[in-house]
Amino acid sequence: MEPAGVEPEPEPESRPPAEEPPGPAVPPAEEPPGPAVPPAQEPPGPAVPPAEEPERGEAAPEPPQVAEGPPPVAQARRPSGPRPKAPAKRGGAGKGGRAKRGSGRRAGEEGGRRARVTVDSSKAKTSLEALKISLRQLRWREFPFGRRLPCDIYWHGVSFHDNDIFSGQVNKFPGMTEMVRKITLSRAVRTMQDLFPEEYDFYPHSWILPEEFPLFVAEVRIMKESDPPWKPTFIVKPDGGCQGDGIYLIKDPSDIRLAGNLQCRPAVVQEYISKPLLIDKLKFDIRLYVLLKSLEPLEIYIAKDGLSRFCTEPYQEPTLKNLHQVFMHLTNYSLNIHSGNFIHSDNVNTGSKRTFSSVLCRLSSKGVDIKKLWSDIISLVIKTVIALTPELKVYYQSDIPAGKPGPSCFQILGFDILLMKNLKPVLLEVNANPSMRIEHEQELSPGVFENVPSPVDEEIKVSVIRDTLRLMDPHKKKNKDTHLPDTCMDSKQRFPPISGRLPRSNLQLPKFAIVRSQLSEHSSDTKEDLMEPGSAEKLEHEISKNPEASLPSLCLKQVFPKYAKQFNYLRLGDRMAALFIRFLGVRGIMKLGPTGFRTFIRNCKLYNSNFSMASADILYIDITRRWNSVGLDQRESGMCLQAFVEAFFCLAQRRYKSLPLHEQVALLIDFCEYHLSILDEKRLLCSRGIMAHRAALATCQPDRPRPPPAIHAPLLNRTTAANKFTDYRNHRS
Ligand code: ADP
Repeated sequence: MEPAGVEPEPEPESRPPAEEPPGPAVPPAEEPPGPAVPPAQEPPGPAVPPAEEPERGEAAPEPPQVAEGPPPVAQARRPSGPRPKAPAKRGGAGKGGRAKRGSGRRAGEEGGRRARVTVDSSKAKTSLEALKISLRQLRWREFPFGRRLPCDIYWHGVSFHDNDIFSGQVNKFPGMTEMVRKITLSRAVRTMQDLFPEEYDFYPHSWILPEEFPLFVAEVRIMKESDPPWKPTFIVKPDGGCQGDGIYLIKDPSDIRLAGNLQCRPAVVQEYISKPLLIDKLKFDIRLYVLLKSLEPLEIYIAKDGLSRFCTEPYQEPTLKNLHQVFMHLTNYSLNIHSGNFIHSDNVNTGSKRTFSSVLCRLSSKGVDIKKLWSDIISLVIKTVIALTPELKVYYQSDIPAGKPGPSCFQILGFDILLMKNLKPVLLEVNANPSMRIEHEQELSPGVFENVPSPVDEEIKVSVIRDTLRLMDPHKKKNKDTHLPDTCMDSKQRFPPISGRLPRSNLQLPKFAIVRSQLSEHSSDTKEDLMEPGSAEKLEHEISKNPEASLPSLCLKQVFPKYAKQFNYLRLGDRMAALFIRFLGVRGIMKLGPTGFRTFIRNCKLYNSNFSMASADILYIDITRRWNSVGLDQRESGMCLQAFVEAFFCLAQRRYKSLPLHEQVALLIDFCEYHLSILDEKRLLCSRGIMAHRAALATCQPDRPRPPPAIHAPLLNRTTAANKFTDYRNHRS
């Protein structure tokens, strides 16, 4: 989205970082949100007009949103649960109603015609309005009551498990909600802070209550003793809370409301950022939308614009007198909307909720280095996602094991970021279900409320949803290589000018597209009366052939793998998770049993005269017991990933004593991967040997049908593994 007044920057693909921070994690120099960035992924080529056979019970083939006829009552009411079996003839569902990926009437070529992308919006909840607008703009088919046949995309409002689905793509990852809870997020970031303290200093110092209460008290006492003028403030946030619910500020650990209920409601207590950046004397935070497009391989996109949410009382540094003033200290929209000072604005650049680009524009006019700020934010986002992915992978293999057909997942995350006075971005939290509402409640008269549209929400959220869908377009995935690129430039060249005076109903052009076209492509000299006769119809026809052509360039910008080189060294957690998952054994579980841990020690050759298998058992028992006593998930017994990581750190520290932790861990991972690769090669040779033996036996029995000639195993290629080991030894010395 184009920030008013911010000069469009050139694409920074090969530009050196705005400022070189120390260490290898050089954050990319980024452009501030703005237009003129070619879509990261090609929009699909000219689409075949959506001429489709109406499905059974479907009335009209071409309404903007099509429900699949009047749905069967039972289906319309079904809140969740297995989807009904689809007729076998269409090949949509397999055994037990499970639809196989790639089967059924789906995206892609169908009898020479391309079907429109189908989206099940029956579980979209509060994101429904924004989703509907997006689907209209894309001219995709919406199924608001669900569909008996598989859809291409399932849009869930809450979690992966909203619906039982076995194919297509769903907009939630299993386990994401759990991963971004305050305690889990703090733990995941802390693991990374242990490994890379400087790279992860964007998350405030945090303690987990109740288990770390004694530690919190002790650490604060030590810090105060060493720095007497230090007058800290802390913020206590209940785990799983949202919208500022239950949050309070304290000046001293003794102010924590222990009141016996901490056991029932665990919380995170965090260093309070007492010097935030202010605009018009008000504290504000930033909501940025991040698309996790894929976990394996990791793909991350960031929306070029977001929201800024303002407090409604002028900010003062926390004192005992003002600690309780939520309108001064908490930026939550849900709280501040109740303040008499809250400003609803029809202009996206003003009011208590405005676009982030308008804030950037303001900062830029004051001489702030926007590129550096934007680059720091991107860095924060990538590092945070890197902290989350190891455990997400454990959830993923549990819900969608490798053998299962699907679905595949993507997710829009809401990152809440605070800017410090010195412009350093600080991560407050990550939302698995960021609000996608595009209206707000207004009190018309006392006690009478009405939902009214919120222009700023609509502008940001519709673009994020629509462009997420564009990136997830299954046709695009299939046809990526076969279609011509269709950038905005192409559409400008091919299409006649769009007149602002063309009736919208006539064209059914997305509002946003018209506005942008008016602003950026065709100035006021484009008049309806200058258009050739019939050009409106021609335009409509062209757009119906290729709805993408009428859309603005993508608002989502790829940041990973684009900047992978700068951040890959941080991904030790993913490699530890891969080891963990390998030894989980039975698919679908999330905790490692004692046998799995022993096998890990044995196969990775981690035992020696100083560390026997009995020591491994003791390590397992010690760590697992402790984690299970603090863990929230007591359903399964065994060692969770976090406990495994702790055990791994212990093993690494024993083996490579005097090195920094991240080097110790990296070396141990190399060591384990090396031994496992040797083992895999041996197993491969062995299984090929058996196959060759069977084939030889079969040739000795002339009566039996001959199997195809055995593929001769190439000579054992140990170079990869051997090189790795050499690397490891060199590194060690
Ligand atoms: P919730 O999920 O309940 O909204 P947050 O972690 O987002 O919880 O915190 C609510 C608000 O409190 C934030 O929007 C921010 O204004 C303020 N806040 C949270 N953590 C801090 C912090 N460490 N320092 C300063 N302000 C904070």
